[in-house]
Amino acid sequence: MVEELAPQCSAKGCRAAAEWELRWNNPRLHTPDYRKTWLACARHRETLGDFLGVRGFLREVTEFRTTA
Ligand SMILES: [Zn+2]
Repeated sequence: MVEELAPQCSAKGCRAAAEWELRWNNPRLHTPDYRKTWLACARHRETLGDFLGVRGFLREVTEFRTTA
């Protein structure tokens, strides 16, 4: 299968290309080693990160690369 659209930012209404991967875990819903991943553009890396950070869910932020 060919993926035609570049992976996009997970922020609501944002269609910018993803540049960052935010990995998070909600201890009330997930087992400790589970990671949920949100993609973020440069602009939303901080807002999405803050959202997860204040809740204590954020685990890692890594650069998102599309390997062709
Ligand atoms: Zn965005």
